[in-house]
Amino acid sequence: MRVTFHGVRGSISASGTDFSDYGGHTICTEIMTDAAQIIIDAGSGFQNVALADDRPVVILLSHFHHDHIQGLGFNPSLFAGPSDVLISSALCSHDATHDHLQRYYSGRYFPIELLSEISRLRVVSFAEVQSIFARDLTLETYGLNHPGGSAAYGVATTNAKLCCLLDNEYEASQLESLCGLTDDADLTIWDGMFTANELPQFKGWGHSSMEQGVAFMENSKCRRLAIAHHAPHRTDAQLNAIQKTLGDPATFIAKANHTEILTRG
Ligand SMILES: [Zn+2]
Ligand SMILES: [Zn+2]
Repeated sequence: MRVTFHGVRGSISASGTDFSDYGGHTICTEIMTDAAQIIIDAGSGFQNVALADDRPVVILLSHFHHDHIQGLGFNPSLFAGPSDVLISSALCSHDATHDHLQRYYSGRYFPIELLSEISRLRVVSFAEVQSIFARDLTLETYGLNHPGGSAAYGVATTNAKLCCLLDNEYEASQLESLCGLTDDADLTIWDGMFTANELPQFKGWGHSSMEQGVAFMENSKCRRLAIAHHAPHRTDAQLNAIQKTLGDPATFIAKANHTEILTRG
């Protein structure tokens, strides 16, 4: 399993030399497996994903906030290709997923009717995605604590597993369920929008702190943790300084264009 971060920024993209190391694009993670290319969230980083033409492509949306869908209409390889691109969200039904994307990518908000004009883009329910790939992939989900909700995902092959917990305001009551999802994961992506100092001012905003990620790792059996969904104002220098304080080498701050190979070989 090959995992590539194409965007690690939350809320809105960032640009400038202060952000060039960790990257300014909003959330998008590509997971390449033998059975499918799976992309979790289509923030602005999605424009840089080379969509596979030798295996099925599946886009899983955690939820429909702008920073998770705003790149969908801007990937040139979406407009031409040999096969369907499935798009799905475990957060809601097929019809609701279709309605949310149709509204954002049409009319006053987008120059073309994306869902009808890109015929290869096919909205399917998460249950259908699970069933299509049941032989080769275990696809799990869990409802996170976020305004309007957000879906966590677990993607596992026979020898690797990735979990994505974006966006989520962590609560102690989630520990058992989240460990159930991540205990056998090789890598978990954590919502680190805030620092521990900032967190109290942003109660109810639906995000966690980087330090909560480190504490979570002390309880989970997950092998490594990648902190993502960086606040748009958080500079490279600040993130480098925070990385030094985290203390746990298994926990790292994710950078765009960084690739991890996951295997239990
Ligand atoms: Zn977000
Ligand atoms: Zn959100």
